[in-house]
Parts: sequence; structure tokens; C-alpha cells
Amino acid sequence: MLKKVLIANRGEIALRVLRACKQLGIKTVAVHSTADKDLMHVHLADESVCIGPPSPTESYLNIPAIISAMEVTEADAVHPGYGFLSENADFAEQVENSGFTFIGPTADTIRMMGDKVSAIKVMIEAGVPTVPGSNGPLDNDDARTLQIARDIGFPVIIKAAAGGGGRGMRVVHNEADLLSSIHVTQTEAQSFFGSGICYLEKFLENPRHVEIQVLGDGQGNAIHLGDRDCSLQRRHQKVIEEAPAPGIPDAIRAEVAATCVRACEQMKYRGAGTLEFLYQDERFYFIEMNTRVQVEHPVTEQVSGVDIVREQLLIAGGSPLSYKQSDIVIKGHSFECRINAEDPATFLPSPGKVAMFHAPGGNGVRVDSHLYSGYTVPPFYDSLIAKLICSGDTREEALKRMEIALDEMLIDGISSNIALHKDLARDSEFRKGGVNIHYLEKKLKL
Ligand code: ADP
Repeated sequence: MLKKVLIANRGEIALRVLRACKQLGIKTVAVHSTADKDLMHVHLADESVCIGPPSPTESYLNIPAIISAMEVTEADAVHPGYGFLSENADFAEQVENSGFTFIGPTADTIRMMGDKVSAIKVMIEAGVPTVPGSNGPLDNDDARTLQIARDIGFPVIIKAAAGGGGRGMRVVHNEADLLSSIHVTQTEAQSFFGSGICYLEKFLENPRHVEIQVLGDGQGNAIHLGDRDCSLQRRHQKVIEEAPAPGIPDAIRAEVAATCVRACEQMKYRGAGTLEFLYQDERFYFIEMNTRVQVEHPVTEQVSGVDIVREQLLIAGGSPLSYKQSDIVIKGHSFECRINAEDPATFLPSPGKVAMFHAPGGNGVRVDSHLYSGYTVPPFYDSLIAKLICSGDTREEALKRMEIALDEMLIDGISSNIALHKDLARDSEFRKGGVNIHYLEKKLKL
């Protein structure tokens, strides 16, 4: 069992990890930038260490500063949260080489899944359905590349193996543009990600984003906690997520989840992870795996009853999985609204002092937020300030609770996207369920 965990993150996820540690009787160390000394979890942690100035590269991404903080405070493990260093294999490796525990998969697994070409290879071997494509890097053989594209059929999407955050991708609609587009994408990928390796996939025109939550013990045992639909996105940023994904036939849902479990067993996956899929015409297509806890993990917690962060901590401490697959029963429905400090019209970040914060409550309402009245949202980081998670026995009941909770929620002093969420909660297509990944952007342009 871990004794003291250093939380290498900020905001709501740092608080989420702190709460899980307290629940297990694990001591906590908060690390923070000079801009973040008043974060809620910094006040609640057993110890805190300032690791640098506001700029993330000098603080939350500063590996030597974080490892020094572990040494000074004698922490035995680090929880990276999401973003920042959470999928940085070099960080995981340096943590372990310094004699500490990284709460997550091994550096080798992070590296393998971080390279989308090698991730797809692992998934194909485990029988996970993938997008028809080159299934490997493109080389300089133009005739071969053209043939692959013809076999897949246009439109195709060129993707950088090392890409992430919605960058390093280009859609091509016809043969004439293919080779020049590949060249441009390879050059961009080289300068953004330090690797120009690209591959081809069929471009799916109207997919939904559906993902499967997994847990593995690192010994070859794994389970899944069902699926989530995260199709409501703007600029590749998720806005509302829900679990389970609505309207998917049970047999199809169960089959893809079983392949995810098989993949995790085969790679001896350790910790929490998410396999992301596109879903179209009742078929799943793997696109990538995230080797960390996701922002939207609470909706899965609400419908599965499993505390995912607690499991991460227990697994990292060497415990076996607390659940067998047969223990996991998905019950009810849950939504998460990502509340951002942003201008409702321009979507630009809106940092500043929160004059008043009132969180909604009641049965089926959970608010994961580091906000408090008088707190100042700094301008240096992601604009996520709260996650409103509303659950019920049915999708309709959860939606009704979401409407009521959004009406109750008050954030004064800074702008937020609460109005957008209120609008979406009453949107007839969204209420029906199953909108695709283009729905929100199309709606916003109307
Ligand atoms: P990133 O690592 O940058 O998030 P992903 O591979 O997860 O990249 O893709 C990001 C988004 O790009 C997807 O959520 C989807 O909207 C779009 N996308 C990726 N691959 C395809 C595809 N084959 N067809 C259609 N859209 C795709």
C-alpha cells in the first residue's frame, strides 16, 4: 500500500486525487506553481511544495523539480492526473529510475500507445476493430501509397504517428491531392512532434466518439467498466460526456469491450486506461488509447460504482484488481458537463476572480471542482473550472437533474459556458441521444 503520494497536477483533478488518497489513508503532497498557491488542494494536502513559476514548462512539466519534491518530502509515488506529464514516458521512466512509483502504466506501455502506429498494431493483434488503413507507416514508395489509398477508398485521413491534441491530421478527398498532402503533414509532424512518421486511415464522415474504460493489474488481468459517449465536441474538445453511450446494441457493445480487455491482458496493462473509438453504422473503429485517467472518468464511476482513482492507487500499491468482470454491472445513466471559464460568445478563456461560487446539489448531482468564492482563476492553464456530473436511473432522469442543477449553479465574477450547457440540455437532438462528432459545431454555426 502506498504511504505518501505526490500529486503532479492542479485544479479539479488534483483535488480528485487528494480525496481518493485521503479515503485510503494515504498522505498527500501538493506541488504547485507560484500562481497556484491558493488552489483548494494545496490547502488540503498534508504538505505542499512550490515547484516553479506560472509557466507550465517551468513548473508542472518540470521533471527535475517534481522528482526533487518527491525526494524532499519522501513521497513514495506520483499521480500525474491528466494532461501535463501524464502520458510522458520519459517522466514515468525517470520516476521509476529514481526509486519511486509512477501511478500509471510502465514507460514502455506509455511509449507504445503514444505511437499510434504501434498502438494500432497491438490492437490488431488482440482483435480490436481498427479503421481500415495503411496499418503501418507510409514510406517513399508513391505507387504503393496511392494503391493503399485506393484500396481504402477516399476520403482518407493522413495522421502523424506521434500526433496528439487534434494536431497532425489532414483529410484528403481525392487522389490528386494525396501525395502533396502527405508531404506537408510529414513536414509539419516532424517540426511539431519530432517525428515525421505518418499513416493513412479511411476518413469516417459521421462517426460518434465512443470510448471504453479499462483497468489492468499489470500481471495480465484486466476488466472494463463499460463505455462513454463523448461526441459533443468543439474543436476536438469534449463538452458533454455520458455513460453508457446511448443506442448501441448490447451485443456490439459487449463484443468491443471484450476485445479491449483482451488487448489489456495481452500487453499486461497496468492501471486505468481508455480505448477511444469512432462508432458509425453499428461498427467500432479504434483510433487511440489514453494511458491515464480521463477528465470524463466520473460518468463511468457513477454508473459502475467503481472509484477509478482509488483503483489506480491500489493497483500502483501492488494490490490485485478489486473487481472481477462479473462484479461490474452498469446501472443507470450519467452525464458530465465541462464548465469552462470562457467567454460564451468567443470561447476565449475568461480568467479572473470568482466573486461567488454556488455549486448545485441534490440526489444524483456531483460537482468536481476546485472553485470557491474569492478564488482567482489564473490565465496560465486550461480553462476547466468545474465538472457537473448528473446521474439517474434512466437517461431522462439524469437529463432532468442536469437541467435543474445547471439552473442552480452560480459562478459570478468571471464568464463561463453554463449558458451553452443549459441550451444543450434542452436541445432536441441531443436529448434523443446519439448525435455525431460534428453536431455541436454545426449547431453553433447556425
Ligand atoms: P488526437 O490524439 O490528436 O486526439 P485522434 O486519433 O484521437 O487524435 O483523433 C482526434 C479526432 O480526429 C477524433 O476524435 C475524430 O474527431 C477525428 N478523427 C480521427 N481519425 C478519424 C477518422 N479515421 N475518420 C474521421 N475522423 C477522424
